This record gives sequence, structure tokens and C-alpha cells, in this order.
Amino acid sequence: MNNEELKTEIKKLKEKLSVTIVAHFYQKDEVFDMADFSGDSLQLAQVASKDKNPYLIFCGVGFMGQSVKILAPEKRVFMPKVACCAMAKMIDVDYFDNNVKILEQNDITKDDFIPITYINSSAEVKARVGEYGGFVCTSSNAKKIIEKVLAKDKKVLFVPDRCLGQNVAIQMGLKSAVIGEDSDEKIKEAKIICYNGFCSVHQLFSLEDIEFYRKKFPNILIASHPECKPEVCNNSDFVGSTSQLIKFITTLPKDQKVAVGTEFNMVNRLREKNTYILSSTKPECPTMNETTLKDLYNTLKSIENKTFENEIQVDKNVIKWAKVALDRMMEVKID
Ligand code: SF4
Repeated sequence: MNNEELKTEIKKLKEKLSVTIVAHFYQKDEVFDMADFSGDSLQLAQVASKDKNPYLIFCGVGFMGQSVKILAPEKRVFMPKVACCAMAKMIDVDYFDNNVKILEQNDITKDDFIPITYINSSAEVKARVGEYGGFVCTSSNAKKIIEKVLAKDKKVLFVPDRCLGQNVAIQMGLKSAVIGEDSDEKIKEAKIICYNGFCSVHQLFSLEDIEFYRKKFPNILIASHPECKPEVCNNSDFVGSTSQLIKFITTLPKDQKVAVGTEFNMVNRLREKNTYILSSTKPECPTMNETTLKDLYNTLKSIENKTFENEIQVDKNVIKWAKVALDRMMEVKID
């Protein structure tokens, strides 16, 4: 079947089987077009967990499907490809515990810090953070959640994205350190202690890219995601989460040029003219791009045939503690 035939079959099966399809902004256009809802990871988890259909197909990466199961354990969630976010894959519970040990070696005990995990982490890591009294955060509320922890006179152990942790620290004028990279002295002094993880896509943007565009178009604006390196965010005109970037870019005057440091598929469909990718290479997320129309079709067929392939399962105890960490985030008032 070609793509048009696949699209027709997907629409028919979706209706027949009462399936809701959601897609993250970073999905390929042809997959994105099939979605009933699109958004960032938290928006989609919230919408999907309240959806009335019995089956949900999540076109995204593994931690996103898990987040729906954490919020709505009774829902049957499937993923066309159980692709893992490269950043989420950089940490597991053993690595988390190991970082806690490193803090202890630096005289920072469990009473001295509260962990925060970026939503881009596995359900198991979220659960461990929940057991430690910690929070989940997103790139749009990371600063608020960090403020909440600091108000309790604790340090923050921020996992897994060192860039998001460092960028918020700079924004708040606080000292930060990266475990495994910075000295013991720097770790002891830091208010925000970061795990040494990162997004391989957002690492692609550099200061040289910014200099190139500023030289080429003197009035251009630079907009970047806080998963980019601190030197990139520090030299951007706007830094924001996926949803904040969309709002910023789509409300610019038509003739205002902007170069954007985030994933290609999303930027490419935002605005027809005067929008540039802040990189000489194409910053596509490889795991997000693994999902194809054929995979989506196959997943629907497996629901029809009752073979239920690629169904997301999360252990009950993991759900319990991961939900505690997610609920703590939801309780923090965001203006
Ligand atoms: Fe993970 Fe980066 Fe891909 Fe987002 S763009 S899913 S953080 S690897």
C-alpha cells in the first residue's frame, strides 16, 4: 500500500475499533496528520488519560506512553514503535542510586536534597524520585518546581537533563554542578546538582550557528529550547518549552526572521516563510522518526486481530510511586 492507501485504511480502522490516536509534535508529518490530538508530552498524557475510547495509540517515544499508563492505569495504550528517547535512556534506577551515593560521598545526605526528574525519563526513574519525596517537571514548569524545592531549604538533584538544570540555574542566578564532570568542591557548593544526561538532538545547536545567522541576517531572532547547551540559550533572544516556542514563533510579524534551535519536524510545519533551523545539519529526533504510517496501520490491525502488539505495561508499584511524583508536580501552582 502507498501512503494515501495507508491513510485511508488507518482512518477506517480507527473508527471501526474506537481507537484514539495522539502524536507528539516531533513526529513525521504523515503520522502527525493522522492524530486526533497533538501536543507536547504532558499535554498528550493528560488528554489521553481522560479520553473515553478504550484503546489509545501514542505516536511518540516510550516514556510518553508510560505517562498515560501512570495517569490512567486502566487504559490500554499501544505504541506503533516502542522507541526510547535517547535522553531517557541515559538514566535508570541504578544510575540514579549511584548518583545519590556520590552526593553522600560529598557529605550531601538524603535529608539535604530533593530530586526532580524531567518528564523525559522512564516510569521507574519517576517512581524512584517519588519514593525520595521528589517531583516530575516539564521544560515549561522546571523553574517553578525548582523554586518549590529551594523554598524547603534543600538542594536539588536534577535528572536526567543537565542542560535544563544548568539553564534554570543560570536564569535564577544559582550555582549548579554536573556529577561526573565538575569537582567535588563545585558539587558541594551547588544548589542545583545535575545528572550528566542530555538530548542528542538539542546538543546539535552551537554558538557558531548563532553567529552564522546573526551575521547573515542582522535583525534575525534566535529562539531555542532549554535542552540546548547553556551557551546557546544564553545567546538566544527567546528560550522556551515546545509549546512556548510554538506560541512565540507563530505570533511573530510575518516578515520577522527567526532561527530556531529545536527538532526539525516541528519547526518545519510552524511557519512557511522566514523561519530557519539553527543548524547546518538536520536536527531530527531519530527515535521519534522511527514511527511510520505502516507501523501505525500494523498496530491498528493487531488491535483488530486481538494480538495486541506493542501494548505498554507498567508495574503497579512503579505506577503508584511515579504518580506520586507526577501529582506533586500538578499541585504546584503555575501562573
Ligand atoms: Fe528525547 Fe531529544 Fe528525541 Fe526529545 S528530541 S525525544 S529529548 S532524544
